[in-house]
Amino acid sequence: MSRRTIIGKCRICGSVGPLTYEHIPPESAFNDQSVLEPNRDLIIGRDTIEYLDNRKGRTNQRGVGGYTLCGDCNSKTGSWYVPAFTDFSHALYPMCAGLEVYKSGWITLKIKPLNILKQIMTMFCSVNSERYAEVHPEMIRFILNQENRALPDKFRISIALYNLEHSVVLRSTGIASSMDMNNGRLSVFSEISFPPLILMLDVGQYPVDERLTNITWFKNYNYNEVRSINLILKSLPISTPVGNFLTETELRALYTDS
Ligand SMILES: [Zn+2]
Repeated sequence: MSRRTIIGKCRICGSVGPLTYEHIPPESAFNDQSVLEPNRDLIIGRDTIEYLDNRKGRTNQRGVGGYTLCGDCNSKTGSWYVPAFTDFSHALYPMCAGLEVYKSGWITLKIKPLNILKQIMTMFCSVNSERYAEVHPEMIRFILNQENRALPDKFRISIALYNLEHSVVLRSTGIASSMDMNNGRLSVFSEISFPPLILMLDVGQYPVDERLTNITWFKNYNYNEVRSINLILKSLPISTPVGNFLTETELRALYTDS
C-alpha cells in the first residue's frame, strides 16, 4: 500500500505543509496493535448497540491517531513530553486492570507533572480541529515552550482510570458539550479515553463529570522537575461514543427501558 503525503495545517503551530502521523496516545503508551484488544475499537457517530452486537474484532494496525501535526511539532513534543507520559501510563496500567469498576484507588508516583500535562494538551490539540489552536494561542505557547506554565485558568484537565474489565470501546472526542437537565448547567469538553487513562479537558464553567481527578495543578512545576505525588483515581467504564460512563450491561438496560 502506497503512503500518500498528507498536506494540511498543523494543529499546534498552524503551519501548512506535510503532516506526520501522530499516535494519540503515544505508541509507547500502549497504543499499538500488540496490546489493543481486538474487540475494542474507536467508534465515532455510530449506534453503539448495533456496534456491540456486530463486533468484528478488527485492530488498527498502526495504533490510533491521525495526520495532525507537522514533523517539527511531532518530534519536539515527542522528545520533550512523551517519555514522562509513557512512564505515567505504564505506572497506572496495573490499576486500570485491577481496580473494581466505580471504585477509587490511591497511588503515590514519582513523575514529571508538567511534562505529563504538556503531553496531554498536545493530544487534545491533535483531536481537535486546527481552529482550536488558532483561538487558543496561549495553549500553543504552553506546548511549544517547555518552561511556559501559563496555562489559562479556563483549562481544567482531569483524569480517571479506564476500567479494563467493563469498557468496550475507545473514545476520542474533539470539543463537545452536554447539559445537565437537572440544573441546566452546560459543560464544554474534549475527551481521550484509552487504557489506562480517561483524559478530560473541560473549558466551560462546569466540569462534565466531577468524579474525575483534577490534575491541572501539574502546571505548577518546572519542566523536567521530578516530584513524588499522591493521586486518588476512580475507575470508570466506557461503552458509548461520547459523554457517559456506563458499563455495557448498564447501557443495554437503558436501551431496553427507553
Ligand atoms: Zn507544527
